[in-house]
Amino acid sequence: MEIYRAYKFRLYPNEEQKILIHKTIGCSRFVYNYYLNYQKEKGIQKAFNLCKDLKELENQYEYLKEVESSALRSSIFDLEDGFNNFFAKRSGYPRFKSKFNRQSYRTSCVRGTYKEKEYSNIEVDLLTRNIKLPKLGKVKIRGFRNKDKIEGKIVNATISRESTNKYYVSVLVEEDILIEKIIPTTIVGIDLGIKDLVVTSDGIKYGNEKVLTKYEKRLKRLQRELSRREKGSKNYLKTKEKIARVHAKIKNYRKHYLNDIANEIVDEHDIIVTEDLKVQDMFKDKKKAFNKSLSDAAFSTLRSLIEWKCKIKGKIYYKINTYYPSSQICSHCGYKNSKLKDLSIREYDCPKCGIHNDRDINASLNILFEGLKLHYNLVSLV
Ligand SMILES: [Zn+2]
Repeated sequence: MEIYRAYKFRLYPNEEQKILIHKTIGCSRFVYNYYLNYQKEKGIQKAFNLCKDLKELENQYEYLKEVESSALRSSIFDLEDGFNNFFAKRSGYPRFKSKFNRQSYRTSCVRGTYKEKEYSNIEVDLLTRNIKLPKLGKVKIRGFRNKDKIEGKIVNATISRESTNKYYVSVLVEEDILIEKIIPTTIVGIDLGIKDLVVTSDGIKYGNEKVLTKYEKRLKRLQRELSRREKGSKNYLKTKEKIARVHAKIKNYRKHYLNDIANEIVDEHDIIVTEDLKVQDMFKDKKKAFNKSLSDAAFSTLRSLIEWKCKIKGKIYYKINTYYPSSQICSHCGYKNSKLKDLSIREYDCPKCGIHNDRDINASLNILFEGLKLHYNLVSLV
């Protein structure tokens, strides 16, 4: 099976390379906005035609020739995606990009042979910790210390400059992997909890890390500091950068933590079942103020991580119905207890069979049963 994998490295450009990166980001944005306006006036056109027009635009604005041309074409294709998403009602009408949007550009990989030797305009060398990028040449990278080689064919590279003033490159690779289908022997139900982040039907609970609380405290302090500073002053900008750094740390930490959880779950089980929960439904009642750190995208990230890992490890993943009341049904006798809509009840004795249930473990057991039903129906259909 062919899969795509992205490798994100920290990038260390020298001063000259930095200038060229900023220029390329600026030019890509210019091209995007130019053709957005162009199509507003002249109607929607195929990206292919706009790429032809780009040649003339480059003659008109000579500075566009200084940057990597595939980055400019990528902008046109991104714009086409934007319009396609708009017409398919997946997103709103494409908007003009400003300096405050994500600062990045994408460049595609071109390869060929020269004097019987293969070459490519993007190459990652993990031994010397360098990446070769079009126009920029060799740039130092950091990341993936445990690898000495990237498997597969490089498709493109996205160079970005974050609000923390750090640079990154994300290399997209197409990889052909052999997936051995396993014969499943174990199944686990996963409840994406309220008090804990994840609760499995084996009774394992993954909490919300204390580290995050520490970062959140720091964030609050910095925000107070920012409000005291004079807007636009040197210290104001300094604090702002500090805030961006903490945000980046939280994002990073969470990413690694969720990845570890997903790895552990997928490695230990063959069939994994989760709910297809809509986060906004769970958090409708904001007054009950659940653990704030949960209210973000952690759920959907974890689900897609599990789904992806199951796919590449030949395991089975089921998402069960959103409206199945997994937490209200006793996993032992099947009695539906609507009192349990009250989310503050963490443990209870079932009024029918008397068994003592932990709210989240009970829910994950119900999810496991639903998954089992689904699995055997699916199997018998084949
Ligand atoms: Zn019961």
